[in-house]
Amino acid sequence: MTIGLLKGVNASGHVGWITVRCAICGTRLSLTGQKPRGSRKYEAVYACPKCAKKYNAYFCAADARRLKYRCPYCGSKLVLVSPLPVPER
Ligand SMILES: [Zn+2]
Ligand SMILES: [Zn+2]
Repeated sequence: MTIGLLKGVNASGHVGWITVRCAICGTRLSLTGQKPRGSRKYEAVYACPKCAKKYNAYFCAADARRLKYRCPYCGSKLVLVSPLPVPER
């Protein structure tokens, strides 16, 4: 699954907002690279490639760091899914 390549991809046919909530703190996170309403800045969004669909395992940058970039459900490495510049695929 190319979860790291959400940038510009509309495989589902949906355009625009994809909003998730951080599984830890509940912060609204946008996967589209737009600022979530009420948020002052862009948030990096991390997700577990295995659990994102099943458990909505999305995490804000602060919580991802706190989790040492490990999924609390399955222990997999979290991946950056927000369309911020990333050094690699
Ligand atoms: Zn959070
Ligand atoms: Zn997981």
